Amino acid sequence: MTSRFLPEQEIRPFSPPERLLLGPGPSNVPRRVLDALARPTIGYLDPAFVTMMDELKSLMRYAFQTHNALTFPVSGPGSAGMEMCFVNLVSPGDKVIVCRNGVFGGRMVENVERCGGIAVTVDDRWGEPVDPNKLREALKANPDARVVAFVHAETSTGAFSDAQTLCKIAQDAGCLTIVDCVTSLGGIPVQVDEWGADAVYSGSQKCLSCAPGLSPITFSDRVVERVKNRSRKAQSWFLDLDLLLGYWGATTRTYHHTAPNNGLYALHESFLMLREEGLQQAWARHRHHHNMLRTGLEAMGIQFLVKESARLPQLNAILIPEGVDDKATRTRLLSEFSIEIGAGLGELAGKVWRIGLMGYSSRADNVLQLLSVLERVLADAGHPITPNTALDAAQSV
Ligand code: PLP
Repeated sequence: MTSRFLPEQEIRPFSPPERLLLGPGPSNVPRRVLDALARPTIGYLDPAFVTMMDELKSLMRYAFQTHNALTFPVSGPGSAGMEMCFVNLVSPGDKVIVCRNGVFGGRMVENVERCGGIAVTVDDRWGEPVDPNKLREALKANPDARVVAFVHAETSTGAFSDAQTLCKIAQDAGCLTIVDCVTSLGGIPVQVDEWGADAVYSGSQKCLSCAPGLSPITFSDRVVERVKNRSRKAQSWFLDLDLLLGYWGATTRTYHHTAPNNGLYALHESFLMLREEGLQQAWARHRHHHNMLRTGLEAMGIQFLVKESARLPQLNAILIPEGVDDKATRTRLLSEFSIEIGAGLGELAGKVWRIGLMGYSSRADNVLQLLSVLERVLADAGHPITPNTALDAAQSV
């Protein structure tokens, strides 16, 4: 007899296919990190676990380049980190300047509005970095603004903005800053203390090459002070910084929610790998493999969306050659060659592909494999290609 609750086919343990992940995230997770996930689950107040938490916080401070005491992983993906910043820093009626040059800046606007805040947007064309002059003007026109928010590395376009300058402008106007470093952390310099940034969050699945679902975050003392002095409770219980301080703060370890222990072991391993490699080396590795990819793609006549000075090495948005079918090509890459690349989002859908070289995926063999497959697939799609030109060019870098 078939059950009303199960489909008719037999369900087996899930065994995902091996993929080469060269999209906007997740990136491939190295064996060391996968092994960490499989270690025994222990209590979230077990002394051994608490020691691991302290190490993790210290490794995270290194990655963020900060002395902020309040640096910890949020139990949730990058979107949870984003939301945590807004629900704690924006009260109803607060004015927030949001710099918007892609999809994720748009999500920040959504967050402000859902907190009952007033979002003033500073818009730049998708593919351009945030223009500091526009931010200056917006702050002049809105002297009552309390917060400035922007995305350091816009994953939807592949452009990065000058975080140091934007933070300085915000600070001079007496505003706190919320900075999205989901795609930048570990791939390009993120220097929280040097920038003077206040609330900075990232994601586990991009240049950290951990399993998805955790959001490293760091808050300056200025944020802690504002949170302590706010007149009403944060609208979210789960993301209330004041409550979370009881578990992740400097002194106490009291229950707030059950920590995702195994995920945190994996994150500890990822940050440890980053520390072993060294930040400078990790940044140089991302840049080098981007240069290989860029040289190979340009040899095929493919162009980038973003001008060179604002281009993210870990997220390459390239214009889909004319006459080439976007979806059919990506589907072929996945089904025939097991390679994932990203589609364009929003207004860039159908116009660009997003090639990620993030974390563990940022390797020379991956670049060469992708270029050789692209040469073949694009030639089949009618794009003029001289065989091996891209590979030869990339190898010369
Ligand atoms: N911010 C940026 C810049 C992102 O690229 C992403 C995800 O791609 C997010 C926020 C949201 O992160 P998550 O998908 O982990 O919730």
